[in-house]
Amino acid sequence: MTVPPGSTIGIIGGGQLGRMLAIAAANLGYRCHIFDPHEHPCAAKVAAAFTRAAFDDRVALQAFGDAVDIATYEFENLAAGPLEVLGDKLRPGVRSLVVAQDRAKEKQFIESTGARVALWRAVESRDEVNAAIAELGLPLVLKTRRWGYDGKGQAWIRSDGEAASAWDAIGQEPAVAEAGVDFAAEFSVIVARWADGRHAFWNAPQNEHGDGILRRSTVPCSDLVAVQVEEARQATLRIAEALDHVGVLTVEFFASDSGPVVNEIAPRVHNSGHRTIEGAVTSQFEQHIRAICDLPPGLTGLTQAGATMENLIGPNVERWPELVREPGAHVHIYDKGEARPGRKMGHVTRVRAQS
Ligand code: AMP
Repeated sequence: MTVPPGSTIGIIGGGQLGRMLAIAAANLGYRCHIFDPHEHPCAAKVAAAFTRAAFDDRVALQAFGDAVDIATYEFENLAAGPLEVLGDKLRPGVRSLVVAQDRAKEKQFIESTGARVALWRAVESRDEVNAAIAELGLPLVLKTRRWGYDGKGQAWIRSDGEAASAWDAIGQEPAVAEAGVDFAAEFSVIVARWADGRHAFWNAPQNEHGDGILRRSTVPCSDLVAVQVEEARQATLRIAEALDHVGVLTVEFFASDSGPVVNEIAPRVHNSGHRTIEGAVTSQFEQHIRAICDLPPGLTGLTQAGATMENLIGPNVERWPELVREPGAHVHIYDKGEARPGRKMGHVTRVRAQS
């Protein structure tokens, strides 16, 4: 059922993704209500209403649910149980969240849809880490099952001697041990899906990471990646359908010799899709709002020959005076306050004109 402009959209999570969703929603005539435990979340600064409460506060979530016409989330590290109070108002539903927030469940689920993942084992002790090394070989990476993001909760093991320190580094938490993938490049597929199964992809961006954090994202991708995009899109669609996902879903891939290997899924708009604000006819943020409110899909093609998005991480945001002087650079600053190392503070998109 269509949720018309003038309605209120609840957004759980008040980070930059919520902020850009709220801006896109406002352009379409919606009001946004942010739910976040922080004092001044950057999304609340551009929204109509804000509830400050813990993500698992059922009473506050119930009141929030009563105040909004529909709700969505911009962040997957949320306890799923309390969100049940939102019932059918929550899009995407709780299932997408539950699968994406636990790396072991996520990998099992992806495998069940027929897509490739790196060889992996669930580990809960030092002995199991050693067993995983014996079975999978080295290098491998330990990733905590829950609460990890931007390379946090991860530690590489490149030699037997590093097993103990890696297990300590991830806090001896339940984890997955994942074989290192020998990839030529990384890319992502972003899809928006409607409740009736309609869907729309964007051009797949090629992504460069440093220290586990996305640094740069470019469309069109290189030829090396382009030949793997169709298979990756089919895998992404199977995942979205199996989740009965409504809204934007992102799947990150490694382009390997044996084809696309899924790294992880995000049940939401994604950093590698920020370039769609200026570089695509309809941005991922607008399309997510369209999908959850059941407005028709917008076109997703490139507006220009291509685009590169560069993240402004930590003190890099101080480059803004130089960036705003750069002709054609689209500067986005999230107004998050302290520019701690590793914190995503903004991004800049450079669109390449048609020749
Ligand atoms: P993640 O937080 O799982 O997205 O990992 C962050 C980044 O670490 C990825 O984008 C890759 O650059 C690298 N990485 C993670 N897992 C693997 C793997 N199994 N093999 C090779 N590189 C990886």
